Amino acid sequence: MAPRQKVEKRMDAEGVKYTEAEFLDYYGKKKGAKLWDAAGEKAEAPKAKAKAKVKAKAKPKAKESKPRKELKVCVCGGAGGIGQPLSLLMAMDSNVSELSVFDLNIAMVPPEGVAADLSHIETKCKVKGYVMEVGKNPIDYTEECLKGCNLVLVPAGLPRKPGQSRDDLFKANAGIAKGIVEACAKHCPDAILALIVNPVNSIVPAMAELYAKKGLNPLNIVGVTTLDCVRANKFVGEITGKNAKFINVPVIGGHAGATILPLFSQDKTAASIDKEKIPDLDKSVQDAGTVVVTAKNGKGSATLSMAYAGARLGSSILAGLQGRRRVECAYVKSDITDLPYFTSKVAFGEKGVAKVLPLGDLSDYEKTRLEEASTALKAEIETGLAYAKENDLA
Ligand code: NAD
Repeated sequence: MAPRQKVEKRMDAEGVKYTEAEFLDYYGKKKGAKLWDAAGEKAEAPKAKAKAKVKAKAKPKAKESKPRKELKVCVCGGAGGIGQPLSLLMAMDSNVSELSVFDLNIAMVPPEGVAADLSHIETKCKVKGYVMEVGKNPIDYTEECLKGCNLVLVPAGLPRKPGQSRDDLFKANAGIAKGIVEACAKHCPDAILALIVNPVNSIVPAMAELYAKKGLNPLNIVGVTTLDCVRANKFVGEITGKNAKFINVPVIGGHAGATILPLFSQDKTAASIDKEKIPDLDKSVQDAGTVVVTAKNGKGSATLSMAYAGARLGSSILAGLQGRRRVECAYVKSDITDLPYFTSKVAFGEKGVAKVLPLGDLSDYEKTRLEEASTALKAEIETGLAYAKENDLA
């Protein structure tokens, strides 16, 4: 078996480790290349001095490590198909000290039951369940549940049914998202809200604009598109026979149909695939959600892979909050293209979104697809913006 390829990471001046591609993304091409080289030299220097040091007495080093923050997370819709496995994965994250599981009294199991179940796993995390009667307003019932939260993951909402239009799904889910976002604006206004509820392309602009109208940071609203990256990595792994864990295909644009644009040219393994195979591979990432909806025969959409993907993004956001910056693709307010909301690589830091990163180089195929994706995404963003114009948070 071929040895595992490990991607080299080097430390920048802030003590954050990046791959070469991430250095270039974060600092820009020219400066990034310089800093990458400088970081390499620094890493080499101690080796040269190592011999001389052997005889020297080891002095205890004064370590300047910041104390770890105690972080609180809430999963809204935490007793649902995505919510339960997502709550499990978040309870297992060593950054999470407290977990709130919030859901309605009509959920498939009471959220208190999910919490009781999770409270027996061997982690330090304290888990508590909160239930609300259907039809009530979350802002009035979530004070204890949300107070002190650093991250709120939102898989609350109806899953898409076969044949259902995105507009119908938006009508059903925008009200649910608004109620939760309104409650967060009141009880945990500094928390990062990771919205999983579909249609993400319209829900995120709607909720971020409502946040901005209220005087809050619209970049605290983050659309979860990680599943597209997870799928792209997996499919590339299957075609090339390489381990998907070491494949990192950025998926940009949006989070539905043609708006999903995997940049296969930007991953070394994916870039080795025959150019003729790329359009089909691209389509298989776009259609992967529908494949799951059809296979579940009207009984739901992706839940387990979605929980995995949501936890990957959630854990990266929490690591960022702890001061260990992470880069993930996410759908956020953006000025890197002509569209006001866009999925691209985003660096997460101590305050949430630290920087929305540029797209980087695109192949000719990807450039053409970018036009198609942008046209479709524009209309879906407008649906969200129109909703925000007509509504306000309490
Ligand atoms: P589900 O029906 O199994 O779970 C949804 C849960 O939300 C239920 O338990 C329900 O009681 C709860 N809920 C509804 N309104 C609520 C409210 N106001 N407050 C608190 N909880 C509330 O559905 P699911 O399969 O878990 O999917 C959830 C959402 O995630 C859907 O909108 C689906 O389309 C979306 N989704 C997104 C992605 C993505 O990649 N972003 C992938 C798959 C599914």
